[in-house]
Amino acid sequence: MHFVAGFRCNRTAGGNCRLPGTAPTALEHREMKMHAGMSRAFGPLLLLQLGVIAWAPSHLLTWSYAVVLAMLTLTVLACWRRLRFSVRHNRPLWSLLLLALIAQGGAFGLLFTDSLSNPLGTLVAFDPTLYFCLSSLLLTIAAAYNPIATLYRWASIVDSLLACAIAALFYYTLHGVLNAASPQPPPATFVMWMFDAMGLFVAVFATLRLVSTKRSDERRFFFVLTVFGWLDAVLPGIHNRFILSSESYLPELLLGLPFVVLGFLLGRRRKVWFRNYRPSRRIRYVAESISPFVMSLALCCLAFAQLGKNPFLATATLVLAITSYAARNAIVLGQHLAFEDDLRQLKRGLQQAIVRDELSSLLNRRGFYQRLSREWENALKTGRSLSVAMIDIDSFKAFNDTYGHLAGDDCLAAVAHALQREASQQPDVIVARYGGEEFVALMSGYDVDASGDILQRLRRRVEAMQIQHARSTQHVVTISAGLASTTTTPYPDSDKFLNAADEALYVAKRSGRNRIQWAE
Ligand code: GH3
Ligand code: MG
Ligand code: MG
Repeated sequence: MHFVAGFRCNRTAGGNCRLPGTAPTALEHREMKMHAGMSRAFGPLLLLQLGVIAWAPSHLLTWSYAVVLAMLTLTVLACWRRLRFSVRHNRPLWSLLLLALIAQGGAFGLLFTDSLSNPLGTLVAFDPTLYFCLSSLLLTIAAAYNPIATLYRWASIVDSLLACAIAALFYYTLHGVLNAASPQPPPATFVMWMFDAMGLFVAVFATLRLVSTKRSDERRFFFVLTVFGWLDAVLPGIHNRFILSSESYLPELLLGLPFVVLGFLLGRRRKVWFRNYRPSRRIRYVAESISPFVMSLALCCLAFAQLGKNPFLATATLVLAITSYAARNAIVLGQHLAFEDDLRQLKRGLQQAIVRDELSSLLNRRGFYQRLSREWENALKTGRSLSVAMIDIDSFKAFNDTYGHLAGDDCLAAVAHALQREASQQPDVIVARYGGEEFVALMSGYDVDASGDILQRLRRRVEAMQIQHARSTQHVVTISAGLASTTTTPYPDSDKFLNAADEALYVAKRSGRNRIQWAE
């Protein structure tokens, strides 16, 4: 049971919810030992690569690629483990990273086999570039993918299609440059810049997602992706520049470093990065509006690369870049508007719910006070008369005791309904449930006589329902009311005004009930 609880805990909270001071579970212990072993293996591998470079055997590149492949294998294992322990909705993200690493493994595998027959290495080998393209495509889709927000699902699909278009065009451009039939040697510098641009594109995209994501479990992924994206863009870039300008093999060390750092980050299960970071609305707005722009910009750059060679493709790419940007924004805007409508409806419903009483469907005390303060301000400004009545059902405790609380509730609802029906026949008269079996009536623009008349009508209406009440002196349900009016007394504030009506109600009760009483 302990094992299962620990396991589930890991899955839902990304492995970060073990209580301080509690011993790790058997599974956690094994995982920790495995990761520690894997992390420790990176150091000897780096040393081995350094030793190979220093020793300089005949197949130096083959050895070096073999070491990079070993590092990559460890990182793939760490990523696989992270995928198993991640929350369900984030698994597509980790799967994309895993596949991207496997694609890079394919590229290094090809470089390895190429170096067996060609110990000095091919400066620009064509087949591995395909796998590097594939890896960049998968990382771009990961950076564009939004695992939870249904609001962005369609936008994510458009982004993924755009990522495919970018990778296909990138590959097509490379294919043109590295065409085997060309008599010229492949322009290594151009290819190098292309890969730098692709790497930077992935890194920038991942960074934008990192700064704009709100969920901490998702931020963990984008942190890892951002670090890896920048290392994978910068270190191979430095490596490429060195091998073009020097004979040294030392830069080969840089090829495995992104995998070493990634493997290390993937294994750190207990750490949550930037736990307290919450992106501000402005940052989210900027990052989310820039990321589709980054996609379209990449397409535009690729279109310009094709301008001289294939004008039709260049034009089509430009059109795709512009229309996809517009379409994506339209999708997001449409979903935002729909979401806004839902929120507005919800807000309206909530606003009504908090001022309504459920049993009687009348305004509740909060709704009444809002109305009273509005009418009070209005009366002060315009000098319009205002009357208030505190209404109370007579001997209601006895009613409950005799007929039960459910019958009491029905009686309350019936009295409320009667009061509401009668009040609705007069303009500017509202009735609210003050609490328990007490109601209030607020009358604007009525003098003492008129408001007294309205109250008598309310009282008679309740009496006329003839709800049987064996323990009342009238043998039916009746009400008593206390009234106050601003025309007779200048009350300093609305509380005193209401108090006066309440005191009058008690006088009505003491005088025998089923009557109305004006405040002194
Ligand atoms: P009086 O004529 O002096 O007003 O006597 P009363 O019995 O009506 O007054 P009292 O304050 O002694 O009792 C009020 C009763 O109203 C007590 C309570 O059980 C009942 N009551 C208050 N709210 C509800 C409600 O929502 N449903 C039901 N069924 N009874 C309620
Ligand atoms: Mg009462
Ligand atoms: Mg009562």
